[in-house]
Amino acid sequence: MFALVLLSLVPVARADYLVVDRRVSVKRGPSAAAEPARRVQPGQILALAASDLTDNYFQVAFPPGQISWIYKGFVTRHAGEPPADSALPVGTLKVHILNIGQGDAILIVCPDGDHQLLIDTGDTRYPGATQSFKNALTELQAQDDVIEIAVASHPHSDHIGNMEWLLRQYTVGLYVDNGQTYDSATYRHVEKALTDRGVRRERVEASLPSIDFCPLEDVSAIILKPAGFGTLSDPNDRSVIVRVDHGEDSFLFVGDAELEEEEQLLHDAATRARLDCDFLKVGHHASDTSSGQAFLDAVTPDIAAFSAGLPGISTNAGYMHPRRSTIERLLKYVHTLPGPPRRLQTYDAKAKLWTSTEIAGALYGTPLDGELVFESTGNGILPPPVR
Ligand SMILES: [Zn+2]
Repeated sequence: MFALVLLSLVPVARADYLVVDRRVSVKRGPSAAAEPARRVQPGQILALAASDLTDNYFQVAFPPGQISWIYKGFVTRHAGEPPADSALPVGTLKVHILNIGQGDAILIVCPDGDHQLLIDTGDTRYPGATQSFKNALTELQAQDDVIEIAVASHPHSDHIGNMEWLLRQYTVGLYVDNGQTYDSATYRHVEKALTDRGVRRERVEASLPSIDFCPLEDVSAIILKPAGFGTLSDPNDRSVIVRVDHGEDSFLFVGDAELEEEEQLLHDAATRARLDCDFLKVGHHASDTSSGQAFLDAVTPDIAAFSAGLPGISTNAGYMHPRRSTIERLLKYVHTLPGPPRRLQTYDAKAKLWTSTEIAGALYGTPLDGELVFESTGNGILPPPVR
């Protein structure tokens, strides 16, 4: 009883909190000139890391696990603990693998929602592909919002099929391709659109473009360019390889790279060291000429996803993607994150027929799951809901 009375006399320390008033960035230091760390939204609650102001800046415990600073005029200080139901909203980095049939089209959006990296634009030949791409992109991206960087992994039409439309419809901050010229009407139309629209352009063969599309400190994107890049004859093996990191999460996008380019990546020590990733966008629509054992051993993906057409439809009647042997190889890596068991139609090249392969693990494909959205918290990748 005595102890209880004493306790009630001791004043309780009150931890104040801040509510954000406008859409601004928290900074890496207490000054307007400091680097932005993370965008915050009106109504967002920030925990104070220190009670006193420093040069008119509050010190806040945000993003989670870090300290940053926000100008006093952008927030309102409230006394006491933040309300119990005020979970801090934290943006996720989103990787959208669009469902466009045979081809690739991938939109990566930073946690603020302000910066985009687009890799490839799908095909025009596969039924419905062009409309699917345009619908999906316009839903995700307002037409007056700049796409910071568009990458053409290589000049095949199932990757640059709708690039001309993109360049004419949107403002693209930087266009990156592999540097290879290509003899096709699709390629020439892209070149004309780049010139007409005056788009800044860099070629990976000639340089190593910076594709760091978002200023957030915990988001980065690089091109992996091994020594010898651009020397192989097959355009697939000149695919631009992109690595995206968000906090602890890492993503690898390899276009249509086949075994020869995988070899190049493995042979270059500096490049090889950067292959290990949590997520792999499977090369060449899960063909059996990609995703070799040695390459997968270096990447060790926990999650893998591919884009491909349906069995027997249009161009995939000839390509016959995905291949059973490749899917079985990938499953050995992604089984640690089990998903609900599903069955995927795969082409067995030895038996020369389509077969049904059981998928139990974090392997996803557009023919099975439709559009795929992976959300990265910076401390783990949330897989898409499966049908
Ligand atoms: Zn392709």
